Amino acid sequence: MSDNEQRALLALSKVIDPELRFPITELDMVSGLLVTDDMVSVEIKLTVSHCPQADYLEQSVRQVLAEEFTQTAVQVRMSVMSKDELAALKLKLRGDKPPRSNPFGPGTSTRVILVGSGKGGVGKSTLTCNLAVELSQKGFRVGLIDADIFGFSITNQLGIGSRPTRLDDLMLPPIAFGVQVISIGMFLDGNEAVSWRGPMLHKAIEQFLTDVYWDDLDFLLIDMPPGTGDVAISVGQLLPNAQALVVTTPQQAASIVAVRSGLAAKSAGHEIIGVVENMSWLENPDGSKNFLFGSGGGQAVATTLGTSLIAQIPLSQELSLASDNGIPLILSEPLDSSASAIRELANKLVDTKLPKSNRTLNVKLG
Ligand code: ADP
Repeated sequence: MSDNEQRALLALSKVIDPELRFPITELDMVSGLLVTDDMVSVEIKLTVSHCPQADYLEQSVRQVLAEEFTQTAVQVRMSVMSKDELAALKLKLRGDKPPRSNPFGPGTSTRVILVGSGKGGVGKSTLTCNLAVELSQKGFRVGLIDADIFGFSITNQLGIGSRPTRLDDLMLPPIAFGVQVISIGMFLDGNEAVSWRGPMLHKAIEQFLTDVYWDDLDFLLIDMPPGTGDVAISVGQLLPNAQALVVTTPQQAASIVAVRSGLAAKSAGHEIIGVVENMSWLENPDGSKNFLFGSGGGQAVATTLGTSLIAQIPLSQELSLASDNGIPLILSEPLDSSASAIRELANKLVDTKLPKSNRTLNVKLG
């Protein structure tokens, strides 16, 4: 390979495939590289036809080559990998992991955190999105599974309109604000309803764990469906080392059912990190607090479950608007008092240790 071609390859290694999160040069996507006095030409092989990242990749390749070879024309041809090339890439990506294995089973070094509540509408999904984005902003590798199969809302809250790209049986999760996300909402058309029985739900959760190409994650947050149904049982089986956060509002009615969901998490063997009380108060312009939904619910749940109330998140119209607009509050209004409370909660999650059963195994092999 000539010096100029090596220069071109080095420049191309700055282009990272957004879904596979590796330089394109390491993914065998670069082919037919030729550098002459008046032309740099290269072929970029996409993993799939209609790849949603095709335009981005082509532009990035043009840009890095034009920056490196300022006096030379740049020609980029886009094509698609053959079946064999794709199979070789899949093998490379999986490394020594067997196909369809669950990377978050016993001994995982990923902090798996289930965000659950007794009933819907308490802000569980809103908090999960904001926590995930905040953890990603801190530099952690974060994944988010929307396991609220019937009431999925994560895709809207994070403004995700794309489906996962499929490499045969391997799904590449869309990335929103640095967070790798998978949700049943990505596989449905419009506002289609899901009406599945237990085994289908179990299969969906299992596939989210095994068939998605997750990074080597620091945190995996799971937005649980409210209550103690089939999904909670499946998650208990598939993620024995998960820890749980219980979300409630200050109201009596919410706190009584929140206790049940906490007890279900405990009986599945999940360590409860703590209780988060959402919609705790509305701050008046003079700084005083208006306890619209009463008070004491979060502390009551924590006491009953033998854990602590680790956060109280105020009511905030901005929080609600931000979710509706698909940009989490933590980014759109970082100075809002709810955003500050969520940031403090994220700090506490970072400081919380891995569950006891995992601590001695917290070593990444290979
Ligand atoms: P769940 O996941 O528990 O069903 P969501 O996260 O979907 O609940 O939240 C329900 C509604 O409450 C949404 O409209 C959301 O924007 C709003 N919401 C959540 N937390 C707050 C808060 N602290 N202040 C104002 N609105 C909130």
